[in-house]
Amino acid sequence: MKPKCESCNSCGMPLESKEDFALGDTSSVYCKYCVDNVGQLLPYDTILKNNAHYYKESQGLTEQAATKMAKDLLKTLPAWKNVGV
Ligand SMILES: [Zn+2]
Repeated sequence: MKPKCESCNSCGMPLESKEDFALGDTSSVYCKYCVDNVGQLLPYDTILKNNAHYYKESQGLTEQAATKMAKDLLKTLPAWKNVGV
């Protein structure tokens, strides 16, 4: 049994079922949205854009507000904390 509910180290999405993990690999620290088809982490700009798009669609934010929210989130996550944006 796992100690806690894991979340993606790149976007913070909860990794609850096997399908949520990158390539369905439960040892991965990333979700399926944050990697390419060989399991390589996508570039920061791509993740940022994906997240901003998600906020825009799900919360009806403007492009600018959604991008800011995504930036604020990403800088708290292990994959991007050294990006310095
Ligand atoms: Zn992710």
